[in-house]
Order: sequence, then structure tokens, then C-alpha cells
Amino acid sequence: MKFKAAVLRQSVLPRPYASSRPLAIESVEVPPPAAGEVLVSIKAASLCHSDLSVINGDRAWPLPIVPGHEAAGRVEETGPGVESVKPGDHVALIFLTQCGECEHCIEGRPFLCARGTQANREGRLLGGGPRLRLGDEPVHHHMGLSAFAEYALVSEKSLVKIPPDLPFVQASLFGCAVMCGAGTALYTAGIRPGQSVAVFGLGGVGLAAVLGAVTAGATRIIAVDPDERKRVLARDLGATECVASDGIVGSETVRELSQGGVDHAIDASSSLDGFRDAFEATRRGGSTVTTSLVHPSQTFSFPLARLVAEARTIRGSYIGSCVPGRDIPAFIGLFRQGRMPVDKLVTRTLPLERINEAFDALADASEVRQVITF
Ligand SMILES: [Zn+2]
Ligand SMILES: [Zn+2]
Repeated sequence: MKFKAAVLRQSVLPRPYASSRPLAIESVEVPPPAAGEVLVSIKAASLCHSDLSVINGDRAWPLPIVPGHEAAGRVEETGPGVESVKPGDHVALIFLTQCGECEHCIEGRPFLCARGTQANREGRLLGGGPRLRLGDEPVHHHMGLSAFAEYALVSEKSLVKIPPDLPFVQASLFGCAVMCGAGTALYTAGIRPGQSVAVFGLGGVGLAAVLGAVTAGATRIIAVDPDERKRVLARDLGATECVASDGIVGSETVRELSQGGVDHAIDASSSLDGFRDAFEATRRGGSTVTTSLVHPSQTFSFPLARLVAEARTIRGSYIGSCVPGRDIPAFIGLFRQGRMPVDKLVTRTLPLERINEAFDALADASEVRQVITF
């Protein structure tokens, strides 16, 4: 079948994207679902910093590619052997398959799924591909999903069934922002009741980390960002204090507020400065956790003796250390009880045709979550 998709042929085009138009809306084609595959009509797909990193070249992906990895939709057709979903079911998409067979999946850490990681790097689906075509030319899948399109052909292991009455715009957030943010607070950092937390960078992931810290029972949650609108939102979500940062200096204020540093400093800034701030705002014996996927050329160094003498922990968090099949239903449950109001992360919705302009807003950090609706 043929449908509209946002195709990236060349990365690192100049800003503004509204003029250079890195994403072209084109008519792509997919075959019917093969064994273990599912055709999903995309109803909502949000923009995430990882999509921007495809467009600005911070992360290298095979081109051409259709980006988009945070989405929800409805199952239209299933391939042979698919039993977990049927046509009509509503699903949230997950950007790393849980193959269930590799060493990481077996040890209960599907966020490291080896087969899924390999397929993602090659821009194909778990079962092969790429399946997308533009005329005779193959088009790559972004993280097994390619959700900036009217339809997505995905592996059965790239989705989680969700309640049919959950609005798609909100449902789209669970696959990346919510798992990456709330999961980082709850699982990677492992915040305990009564602990102190600082979150650097209040995009979708950072604000979801604030929600995770609230859920974990943190009693001091300091939210750091240069944008006042985002700080106000963080306070609304449960941050106890907010700090205006120019992107370089936030740690000193956090150290003052917390009398020497916080138990957990979470960097969700997508910048090296944000990580440095988080590191310096961590108390002796505390943990610094980062979700930032910065350009691979960026490095961070510090006196090694500090790691030992200050008994520090530094951790990277991928997909918030979540198990999607367990955690997406859990977070949806918390959302529906009003205890994790992720709907407040959405600051605007747009049609697919305005996607380049939406990436300008993402690059300017002027919105939180923007959702493309179909
Ligand atoms: Zn993402
Ligand atoms: Zn696996």
C-alpha cells in the first residue's frame, strides 16, 4: 500500500528547517505484513530530540529514512503468526524491539535488546528489510518504527497494546518521553522516598523525570532550565524548587539550595553543559544519571579520585531502564489515576505538513512535546 511519509534524504541542512525543508512529504510504499509484522495506522507521533539528532547529523543513520519513534495508533493488519494484537487494537509503539531471545532480553533488560539494536542501526525491521520503498529505492526505518507517516509497518515486538479509550495524543508519549524520563527517576536512579533530586533540562524527558521523582516519593525536586514557561510547568508537575539556568550555571544554585548537593542529579538537557552541571550538583555519595544523547565527539573528564573519594555513581539511562510491556501499562495506570499527568507535556499539535517548522521549534527548545496528528 501507499501512504504519505516524511522522508529525510540529507542530514545537516541549514536552519531554519522551514526553509531548507530536510523532511519531504512523499508517497512511500510497503508490502503487506510478513510473519511477525503488523501494519499500524499512526494517529499521533511526537517529536523528540532523538529525531532532531537524525536531522542535524548528531547521530548517523542510513539514508533515506523516515524518522519518528514516539507514537501511537491502531492495528490495521497483522502478518502470519501474530497473536498479541488484532486489527482494531490500539497500540503504543516502542523504539527498541523486545526480541525476548537475546542475552539482555533473557536477563530482564530489554532496553539493551541486542537484536533490536542491530536492526535499528541498519535501519530495518527485526525480521529484515527495509520494507519501505520510494519508487524503486529502499527507504530505511527509524528505530523500527518510522512514525512520521500515515502508516507504519513494524515488528510485533515493537508495540504494546493500550486501552482503546486512551486518547492517541497522550498515548504517543509513553513509548519515549515517559519511559525515558519517569523510568530514569524510578529505575535507573532508583530514587527512594525522602531523597533529593535535581533535573537539568525540562523538555519532555526532563519533565517526565520530575513526574517520576514525584511518584518515587522524592521530597525535594529541583527543576533547572533557562525557559521560564518550562519551569512553571515543572512546578505544576510537582517540582519543589526551580532554578533558571543559562545552560552553563545551574549547579551552584542547586548546591546552595540542597546544602551541598542532591542525592540524584538527572541530566535530560541533551547537552554536555547540562551533564557537567548535573555532575557538580550531585552530593558526595550521590548518583548522576544522564539521558542525553549528545554528539559522539563530545567527551567529559574529571579527576578520577573524585569518583572514589566522593563515592559517586555515574549512570547512563537508555529507555529509563524500562521493561516496556510492564511499564507502559503501569505508567498509563498512574496517568489515569491523575498521579502522572503526562498530558501536560503536550504544548501543541500539528499536521504532518508542518513538520519542518516543528523541528525548528524543537531545535530552539521553545516547545515541550509537539505531536503530529493524523
Ligand atoms: Zn525519543
Ligand atoms: Zn532481545
